[in-house]
Amino acid sequence: MKIVKTKKAIASLSKLIHKDGGTIAFVPTMGALHEGHLSLVRIARKLADTVIVSIYVNPTQFGPNEDFSRYPRPFNEDLAKLKKEGVNVLFAPSNLYDFNSATFIDPGYIASVFCGASRIDHFRGVATVVLKLFNLVNPDIAIFGQKDAQQVCVIKQMVRDLDHPVKIVVAPIVREADGLALSSRNRYLTPDERSRANSLYNALNLVKKELAKGTNINSALNKGKRVAKGDIEYLNVVNQSTFLPIKKIEKNALVIGAMRLGKTRLIDNLKL
Ligand code: AMP
Repeated sequence: MKIVKTKKAIASLSKLIHKDGGTIAFVPTMGALHEGHLSLVRIARKLADTVIVSIYVNPTQFGPNEDFSRYPRPFNEDLAKLKKEGVNVLFAPSNLYDFNSATFIDPGYIASVFCGASRIDHFRGVATVVLKLFNLVNPDIAIFGQKDAQQVCVIKQMVRDLDHPVKIVVAPIVREADGLALSSRNRYLTPDERSRANSLYNALNLVKKELAKGTNINSALNKGKRVAKGDIEYLNVVNQSTFLPIKKIEKNALVIGAMRLGKTRLIDNLKL
């Protein structure tokens, strides 16, 4: 596996791959890799002949009181996992921003609701760094996890709105045996919090079951909220392509939730 640290080197490597007629599948990450990330890598390997993974903890997507400085960075463990998966290139820059960089992507409505309502500027930072990475890596395909459904929506919208040629592929959520969606932040959970963490998944499942029985959306959401064993930040049913709340179950409906357990914030979703 080749490790590339600079913007210039990754851009020339990408040009070289394309010049030789190769294709690139790209998996952007912030590291602290788990089976969820690795499932994206396995999909990438099937879709192109070169797999490029990036590890970069992007400062512009963290709020001032969030966990940027304590975000886990187990670089050597990550390296070993990526090598084992047969990744061709790891792009691991130490910084992607010039000291005076001032241009950001504004994703509009979608960035202001749900996760965007409690994490001001989060999706602006995500969209900006993803576009920078797309410009540098110039992938044919990029793979994102359904786990971050709102992020997928932001990225797809950006690619559409800005006429970027990359193809976005979405990978299913990888879960623990009890249903908790894998996340780099799960390692923050105390044993007591961990024992309650899958209640977010249980809440989403209950909403799904109630809706399938014909219960109206509000009552189903209230029932879901009651089984959550943490502080629910939001639980709602939206159209997954717009993130507009829906009143009646329709194609593309998604039940989404965010729950706080102590200092840790968990998100999850289920397709209906
Ligand atoms: P992150 O390192 O948290 O920025 O995540 C990098 C990519 O991995 C994103 O596209 C996430 O949606 C995806 N991802 C994170 N957790 C999971 C999971 N449990 N299942 C599938 N994909 C995931």
